[in-house]
Parts: sequence; C-alpha cells; structure tokens
Amino acid sequence: MEYIDAFINGFLGMVRWTWKSIMFEVPWYTNYFWGLIVISLLVWGLEILFPWRKEQSIFRKDFWLDAFYMFFNFFIFAIIISGVYKVLEVLFADFGITSKSLSLIDFTGWPQWLQLLIFFIILDFVQWFTHVLLHRVPAFWEFHKVHHSVKEMGFAAHLRFHWMENILYKPLKTLGVMILGGFEPEQAYIVHFAAIAIGHFNHANIKLTWGPLKYILNNPVMHLYHHAYNLPEGHPYGMNYGISLSLWDYMFRTNYIPESSGKIELGFPGDEKLPKGFWGQLVYGFKKPKK
Ligand SMILES: [Zn+2]
Ligand SMILES: [Zn+2]
Repeated sequence: MEYIDAFINGFLGMVRWTWKSIMFEVPWYTNYFWGLIVISLLVWGLEILFPWRKEQSIFRKDFWLDAFYMFFNFFIFAIIISGVYKVLEVLFADFGITSKSLSLIDFTGWPQWLQLLIFFIILDFVQWFTHVLLHRVPAFWEFHKVHHSVKEMGFAAHLRFHWMENILYKPLKTLGVMILGGFEPEQAYIVHFAAIAIGHFNHANIKLTWGPLKYILNNPVMHLYHHAYNLPEGHPYGMNYGISLSLWDYMFRTNYIPESSGKIELGFPGDEKLPKGFWGQLVYGFKKPKK
C-alpha cells in the first residue's frame, strides 16, 4: 500500500509541478519549463546571428525532432518516471538507506558559492564518468547511439537522447548527491540552469572556445569532435566526453581537437540503420545488435 501511495503521489506531484510551471505559478528561478524555452531561444538567436557553419539552415536537419526531444526528456519522461523514483526512494528508506547515508563531505557552514561550486563539480564528474560508460559498455552504447545519430549539429541536439539515458545517469547522480549528505544547495537551480545553457552551447552552431578557459569549460568545437563519424587512432571508444567541464578529458587524456573548421562528418558507422523517427528510437536498443 505504502508503495502504491508513493507511486501515485510522486506521479501526481510531478504533473502538478509541471502544470504550475507552465502557468507561471512557481518561483521564476525554479521554472525549468519556461527557463528551457528562454535559454533555447537565446542560444538559437546567437546561432542565427553568428553561425559557425554559415551554409547550415536555421531549421537544420531534424530540428523539430530535437525540439520535441527537449520536452520529452525534460518533462514528459520526467512525469512518467517520477512515480517509480518515489517508490525506490521509499523502498531504500525502508532498508535504512537515505540520501544522507553516505555524507562524505559536510557542507554546513561553508560559503554558499563554494557549496554550489562543489555541487557542480561533483555532479559534472559523475556524469562525465557515466558518459564514458555509455561509450564503453556495448549495451549502453546501443541507447547512446540515439544522441550520436545527429548528422547536422545545432543547440537542440543537446537533448536528443534515449530515455534510458535518464535512467543510466540516475544512480551515479544520486551517489554524487549522497556524497554531499543528500544536500542540494539552496541555490542549486543556478547549477542546473548553467548546465542546460552550457549543454546547449556545446551543441550550438557557434564557434566558441572560451580562450584559455577551454581547458576547464567544454565548448562547441570540442564537443563537435565528440560527435565525429570517424574515430582517430588511439581513441577507439571516442573522445571529449565532457558534459559541462572539459577538465576531466584533459586530466584523463581523452581530449582530441585536431582542427576547428566545424565541417567534419557526424554520426557513427552504421547510423543509417538507426530508426529516423521518434517512435522507432523510443523502442530502440533493447534487442541484441546483429553482428
Ligand atoms: Zn557520447
Ligand atoms: Zn552531444
């Protein structure tokens, strides 16, 4: 009974929250619905004003597919899965495991900006690591192929990914929060919005490298090579796995940026076999790939 209640409450809570966000009934800085739209329009505007690949259409290939993916992964799937996550939370709590169980770093009393910075860095590292696994574990790569099926790059490609990725990223993200004693800093929304904006930029048709900061911050030139069709020698699984930070790739020698024309072929060998539409991609990746 407890679990059924948790499922229904988790689900309805998320539906209500999303609806209130659409209706502007939540504090503006927690409004991810309109926040995502505003960030998207800003980055798209910059793409139109300062295009890197000038011949690329404003409505590039699969623009609308990716626009739909943004709302699907951020809101529709989040609603669908919210009940399941709530049940897991209650289930783990019944076993005495809560988000406070690990608590390796005690934040309390630290300056707010430092808390946010550490939260951002830890979360980014666990996501970088998960991303490496998506490339190295064959079963995970099948799902991650959806993100790598982008043939023409633009900001909205950021959120074209298989719904299973939400699930694969979750355990390590939760572990990251547990290390911090289950503590999301009060202003964590700054971190979340920054991550959305950086992710949009990484996929945007804008030549941006952040100057010397490129060794810390991921950027469109570096991430375009992450989507390269042909993998260079020495990087059989891929390179430039960074999410918001490029730091990890430089630390672990998985960085690779030979040039910056922006005109490389994107995708992966065999991408023509991946379903082209949303529904085909939705159920893709569960069957064992044929040799
Ligand atoms: Zn990837
Ligand atoms: Zn990408």
